[in-house]
Amino acid sequence: MSGPLSASASPAVQDRLGRALRDLRISVTDRCNFRCVYCMPKEVFGKDYQFLERGEILTFEEIARLARVFRGLGVEKIRLTGGEPLVRRRLEQLIEMLARIPGLDLTLTTNGSLLKRQARALKDAGLQRITVSLDSLDDAVFQRMNDVDFPVAGVLEGIEAAAAAGLAPIKINMVVKRGENGDSILPMARFFRGTGHILRFIEYMDVGHTNGWRMDDVVTAREIVERVGTEMPLEPVDPNYPGEVAERWRYRDGSGEIGVIASVTHAFCRDCTRVRLSTEGKLYTCLFATQGHDLRALLRGGASDDEIHAAVSGIWSKRADRYSEIRTAQTARLPKIEMSYIGG
Ligand code: SAM
Repeated sequence: MSGPLSASASPAVQDRLGRALRDLRISVTDRCNFRCVYCMPKEVFGKDYQFLERGEILTFEEIARLARVFRGLGVEKIRLTGGEPLVRRRLEQLIEMLARIPGLDLTLTTNGSLLKRQARALKDAGLQRITVSLDSLDDAVFQRMNDVDFPVAGVLEGIEAAAAAGLAPIKINMVVKRGENGDSILPMARFFRGTGHILRFIEYMDVGHTNGWRMDDVVTAREIVERVGTEMPLEPVDPNYPGEVAERWRYRDGSGEIGVIASVTHAFCRDCTRVRLSTEGKLYTCLFATQGHDLRALLRGGASDDEIHAAVSGIWSKRADRYSEIRTAQTARLPKIEMSYIGG
């Protein structure tokens, strides 16, 4: 263990565009209890869909070991995601293991459906904060989007439980897809304004190959800010840190802030410090990468921490991805890895 941890004092590894490795997203399961039409549509992820077998997915010990190696490479933030991370059994045990790694900002993205029951245990295990996805406050719209009839109230209860447990600040992610939930932008802004929770609007992206993405479906960040700002005046705020993904806007009356994630219209590749670890231990240097690097083979093949450290360092130093900056209607049609597998 001493190798990678001692390496945390060495200069952070940089990729070919001079970007450091700072954030690690870990997909802890490829399964989800929702079938969001833009992410895991039922027609593809139906009864016959072959999810990963238990033996294929990384164990908590393997994930924690990799997390320590990544910490040694300069990673400062870990986000657990999926699939739906809260469907992975005894997730709090993993959180406990990760929380023991010094100097890590530890967070998680969830659809909120199981949060009411788990919020306290997650916090007690060492989770610091949380992001909850919610695409509408209107049951008809939300249920059409999650496609499993899950009610808005269930997610709101999860958010309340997270707030009561002290998982703050809570961020709320809303993916906006034209024709689906565009009309929910203003009600969502009104509802979360003044609560201390930070609502973030995400441009609908061409991830995976199952969602049939078209540029016309994207409601742009600019349009969202205009719509919200017309009713509730906004002013821009500086990023919390260089390379922050969300552009921040605050209500002029001091009642809080919102964020917009313009992954399509204002790509942020040049500041991208993220890497993704899939459920079965493949490392992806971009959300839109088609090839992963098999770290599970190293783990299970007896590689030492130093060897894994060297392998990841080599992968990162060759990285030149900037998919979103060069996206076109043509690239949007290229084969891609599903977000539920690679980790959203
Ligand atoms: N199940 C968890 C959840 O719902 O938050 C974590 C995984 S989910 C893939 C992570 C985030 O990705 C969610 O906020 C989801 O709305 C977002 N997402 C999924 N597909 C997307 C797409 N095509 N464009 C933009 N965001 C997307």
